[in-house]
Amino acid sequence: MQPDDTPLKPGDEGPPDAPGVGEDACRACHGTGSVEGHRCAVCNGTGKVLQGIGGG
Ligand SMILES: [Zn+2]
Repeated sequence: MQPDDTPLKPGDEGPPDAPGVGEDACRACHGTGSVEGHRCAVCNGTGKVLQGIGGG
């Protein structure tokens, strides 16, 4: 098996090409990429996470 080209961040719920998954601002750092002066571990400092959209 090949490793995925797109490493998922801890806050990601799925790969960006997965149906029903979209990019959204990280809730942990509110899209800033850092929490209390440290790089956000949830979004890896990107301020964005892939979250499931639609549905419930
Ligand atoms: Zn974050």
